[in-house]
Amino acid sequence: MANYEDKLELPIEYVKGIGPAKGETFRKELNIHTVYDLIHSFPFRYVDRTKFHLVSEVREDSDFVQLKGRLLKFEKIKGKNNRSRHQGVLQDSSGFLELVWFQGGNWLEKILQVGEAYIVFGKITEFNGKKTMAHPEMELLSDAIQIASRTFDPVYSSTEKMNAKGLDQKVRRKINRSILDGLQPQDVPENIPDYMLQKLRLCSRLSALQWIHFPENEAQKVAAINRIKFEEFFYVQMRLLQGKILRKQKFRSLPFTLVGDNFHRFYKDKMQFDLTNAQKRVVREIRADLAQATQMNRLLQGDVGSGKTIVALLSMLLALDNGVQCCMMAPTEILAQQHFESIQKALDGMDIQVAFLTGSVKGKKRQQILEDLSNGLIHIIIGTHALIEDTVVFKNLGLAIVDEQHRFGVAQRASLWYKNGSFVPHILVMTATPIPRTLAMTLYGDLDVSIIDELPPGRKEIQTLHKYETARPQVIAFMHQEIAKGRQIYVVYPLIEESEKLDLQNLQDGYERLLQYFPLEEYQISIVHGRMHAKDKDMEMQRFVNKTTQIMVATTVIEVGVNVPNASVMIIENAERFGLSQLHQLRGRVGRGADQSYCILMSGYKLSKESRERIATMVRTNNGFEIAEADLRLRGPGDIQGTQQSGLLDFKLLELSKDRPIMDAARNIALRIMENDPKLERDIHQPIQQHVAKLMKKNKNWNVYMRS
Ligand code: ADP
Ligand code: MG
Repeated sequence: MANYEDKLELPIEYVKGIGPAKGETFRKELNIHTVYDLIHSFPFRYVDRTKFHLVSEVREDSDFVQLKGRLLKFEKIKGKNNRSRHQGVLQDSSGFLELVWFQGGNWLEKILQVGEAYIVFGKITEFNGKKTMAHPEMELLSDAIQIASRTFDPVYSSTEKMNAKGLDQKVRRKINRSILDGLQPQDVPENIPDYMLQKLRLCSRLSALQWIHFPENEAQKVAAINRIKFEEFFYVQMRLLQGKILRKQKFRSLPFTLVGDNFHRFYKDKMQFDLTNAQKRVVREIRADLAQATQMNRLLQGDVGSGKTIVALLSMLLALDNGVQCCMMAPTEILAQQHFESIQKALDGMDIQVAFLTGSVKGKKRQQILEDLSNGLIHIIIGTHALIEDTVVFKNLGLAIVDEQHRFGVAQRASLWYKNGSFVPHILVMTATPIPRTLAMTLYGDLDVSIIDELPPGRKEIQTLHKYETARPQVIAFMHQEIAKGRQIYVVYPLIEESEKLDLQNLQDGYERLLQYFPLEEYQISIVHGRMHAKDKDMEMQRFVNKTTQIMVATTVIEVGVNVPNASVMIIENAERFGLSQLHQLRGRVGRGADQSYCILMSGYKLSKESRERIATMVRTNNGFEIAEADLRLRGPGDIQGTQQSGLLDFKLLELSKDRPIMDAARNIALRIMENDPKLERDIHQPIQQHVAKLMKKNKNWNVYMRS
């Protein structure tokens, strides 16, 4: 042990009581290699050893419970197929509890003493029709009393193998206890400066580690958890912010200092409406960024329909005034197409060349576009991720806009930067799915954020209703009514890969049912799904856009971006099968014009608790940020699109849906430190500097942006 200057780096097998064989088990089963790993494998819960339940009050399938009583009986019972088990009965003041062991009973025969008082601990299940505790931990009450000080026992995540190799909870508690008791302050260098500990009332790193495993009371447990959560997030922030600073030093962009003809002419003569105050503010923020020679990396968040496109367009015009090219990348062909058309229309009569490039643009046409792009004849190019391909070469790309950011990974975002040799484009990413603040701080903590929190004037709040199948006749009647007023209607069906065939059948059935109520002599219905050829799909879309058809039956292909202001009703079939953000996105397809719009969520009667809550949230609010928070709470961050690969979300304790205050505190202080002492040179920041150096050594990917 003496050879290891850093006690925490001691390989696990050298710990007293572990050895090579058990060390191997730790490594293989739990990926625990060192003392550091071991004491950073925190308990996922605790057993409150001060609390005893009564037999009469415990329920089946509840959490682990602890009871106290007399062991009345313990015997071996011969079951079917020669299999035997051991059974016992415990009595407390309220009744009798069956105990059962399917293995290990022979050994217990030797140590259990019938007639004595025991503390039993385990889960209650039903066995042979009786409340039973299977495989309880048994401890003689007279033994237990000697360990008077204990209040909470840690419970660690474990595996079968760990138990088989003699590394059960009891043994692990013992190992951890002896390690933690033996640690001195110098073994666990404090990595949060004193002034921060005091200001934020955080306990020391050593105390936190000791208390998180063996709290003596609730207060210690809470203090330890808070401290560790803070530390986790603080260092994520340091990583992101340091990356941001390094990136600003490494990459140069062209400063857009001119506001010229393109911008002014469009703003004065061409724009169809006045910007909302939120849009104005965001345009100002972007202009300030673009005037710098350092790269802009800005995230623009705004709910569906809040008017992000115009902000993107104005930014591009500003770029054009400064003699560079722009690109705008969308996640789907349909959305790219729509952006292309609306931007081309908006710029009609101005001397600006706009081009469109996706995977479906092929042959001579593609060749021409690539050529015009590389010699600068094209000013703005709009497309899908086809724009990232190596064959796409710009003359001087100055601004790249990425719409619906959450669908692109960090790497894809970064690959746009390498499109130019000497300078990198400014980057504006836009997302229509508001991201909960805590998630944004984590995933986009290295970006500057602008928020459009105001809808254009004159919009009526969309009314959202939840209807069951039995209400279908009313829904059909309502559809007739709206169509009679000249409005159009979407009917959306779920489509997921696993049940694609069935889903498509549902869509087809739904379409045919609608034909009965809306006969072809009088009405026109479009049908669109991902399995159709792009050409047919576009044709059907087009028929809806130009009002030839009144109803559009579709799968979620219409989720993103489609803009038909005359459509005022969104009917979502099997709404219980959609995620919250998807429902919100779909709803955002209506309410784009001046008419009162409706969203009708159709569902069956059988709803899970979660689906019920999703639907209730939709009915309750139209606010995308509120919905994003609810989504995070219901699903957890791991399921939110695009977050899986980042590695930034691998928190041991932190919970994005609950720990906003800690996260805010950590981010704010990290921001301040990075502003005042970016290189961590001041004495008071030495603890941070040293810890960052350690983390960098451990994690080669410390900075995702520094790959080149
Ligand atoms: P999103 O933020 O979802 O991308 P869009 O940019 O597509 O929203 O804008 C939605 C609709 O609102 C478009 O028809 C757009 O022309 C219109 N719009 C945007 N800003 C304003 C505004 N300030 N006043 C009136 N209409 C606006
Ligand atoms: Mg949009």
